[in-house]
Amino acid sequence: MRLILLGPPGAGKGTQSARIVERLGIPQLSTGDMLRAAVAAGTPVGVMAKDVMARGELVSDALVIGIVADRIEQADAARGFILDGFPRTVPQAEALDHMLAEKGMRLDAVIELKVDEKALVARIAKRAAETASRGEPVRKDDNPEAFQIRLSAYREQTSPLSEYYRGRGLLRVTDGMAPIDTVTADITRLLGAEVA
Ligand code: AMP
Repeated sequence: MRLILLGPPGAGKGTQSARIVERLGIPQLSTGDMLRAAVAAGTPVGVMAKDVMARGELVSDALVIGIVADRIEQADAARGFILDGFPRTVPQAEALDHMLAEKGMRLDAVIELKVDEKALVARIAKRAAETASRGEPVRKDDNPEAFQIRLSAYREQTSPLSEYYRGRGLLRVTDGMAPIDTVTADITRLLGAEVA
């Protein structure tokens, strides 16, 4: 199964992806995680992405499209994958369609986590506090200034993807404000028998 989880920062895409991974045994492909790993390793991609990410802006389409194109070629993605944080722009979605078509593949579903933006700021503050209390490094973009920029990027560049995928009959929407287990159950319901 090839899925996309769509939703603003803090909507719970990472949490829900991890649960789908467990259930379906397909990998979670998070461009944010891949980019953070590249930044930590100081690779050329990481060097290009570092400051853009810290500000909360989107890195270039060409850069992330290249990362995803390489990643879906790997053996563990052959049976399917969950894309978390990609695509984030219409050109990225078009590039993904193109990549999959070349391999004779298609997407099965796009799940959008609908959330109340006002609640997200509090969620992100909580995530940062919990990470710090575990003694782990807090994401550089989990601060109020960068978060507002991430939200604007979502509104302006990513939210048009709902219509893009609705038009292709792939969009399924769930209430991301519900408790975590309820959201997981609803995603399972939306995906139908294949994941039951
Ligand atoms: P995330 O972990 O998905 O919130 O991503 C963290 C940051 O990585 C974003 O704020 C962007 O700077 C960058 N990033 C991740 N995925 C993408 C993408 N598909 N397109 C552009 N930038 C991305």
